[in-house]
Amino acid sequence: MEKIVIIGSGPAGYTAAVYAARANLKPLIISGNTIGGLLTQTSEVENFPGFPAGINGYELTMKMQEQAEKFGARLEIAVVEKLELSNGGVQKITLDNGSVIETQALIIATGATPRWLGLESEERLKNCGVSACATCDGAFFEDMKVVVAGGGDSAMEEALFLTKFASEVIVVHRRNELRASKIMADRAMANEKIRFVWNSQIVEILGDSEVSGIKVRNNADNSESVIECQGVFVALGHVPATGLVKDQIELDESGFIKLQGGTSLTNLAGVFAAGDCADPRYRQAITAAGAGCRAAIDAERYLG
Ligand code: NDP
Repeated sequence: MEKIVIIGSGPAGYTAAVYAARANLKPLIISGNTIGGLLTQTSEVENFPGFPAGINGYELTMKMQEQAEKFGARLEIAVVEKLELSNGGVQKITLDNGSVIETQALIIATGATPRWLGLESEERLKNCGVSACATCDGAFFEDMKVVVAGGGDSAMEEALFLTKFASEVIVVHRRNELRASKIMADRAMANEKIRFVWNSQIVEILGDSEVSGIKVRNNADNSESVIECQGVFVALGHVPATGLVKDQIELDESGFIKLQGGTSLTNLAGVFAAGDCADPRYRQAITAAGAGCRAAIDAERYLG
């Protein structure tokens, strides 16, 4: 029987592991599909305190892994196939390699994935002008023209943030009405650097090795046109990786794990959550790391 198992190896999972390992709980981390999580796919991280010169996302997560292992955390490279959760009892985990693990406390740190447009050109130009994180990549677009796809609060937030750098920000939305809250929508509409292209769907991102523009289709009359730009920020919301627990644990209407107050406690005693799988709002490496710390402390107190 394990004391603590952590599912997920992003900043939340590894930080939980550092804290649990230093509390002598010998945590077991189940890596998931991508060892190190989403952050490994970011080129340069410039907003994680402690790295004034910036650090490569992959390198940062490898350092977190090294730090967790140094204190005795163990990493199992596997994907969880099935979870059988209980309220205050034994938590049972079945891995894709067939092994079954039982644990007293479980920390779910499975992350979230950005919702993409699903275009071949988008996939090809990721990190070459296509991004899903203005906070991470916006500074690379100083004095350039960028497009933001989406009409929700994330899209408005990304667009407003990008006005700090870009010469023009063009928001492309598939309807003629924003989903964003009024305050965010008003703020974006009032910003003279932001222009809206309504009723339009991006059908292709143009460029060979870097973004040079987008092709959009007008949903009202099906006409197509090209907009020149150097960057495309996809802000269509996030999909939390909570499929494994969706019938067993309380989720919000968007599928994020519901936490109690400012804690990492779920509705099941002994099951904790941290990071993007339980965070519809901030979704930053540093907030995920902070949430991982909380989860380890909560789990340690639960075990005590
Ligand atoms: P939302 O789901 O609210 O918005 C997603 C947007 O993307 C919608 O406008 C949607 O269009 C569009 N979209 C989805 N799929 C496609 C597609 N395939 N092609 C084109 N467009 C698409 O996600 P958000 O991340 O914006 O927000 C999630 C939650 O987080 C919300 O509750 C939001 O309020 C909150 N949040 C709050 C912030 C704040 O208060 N500062 C900041 C960021 C998020 P359509 O409208 O037509 O469905």
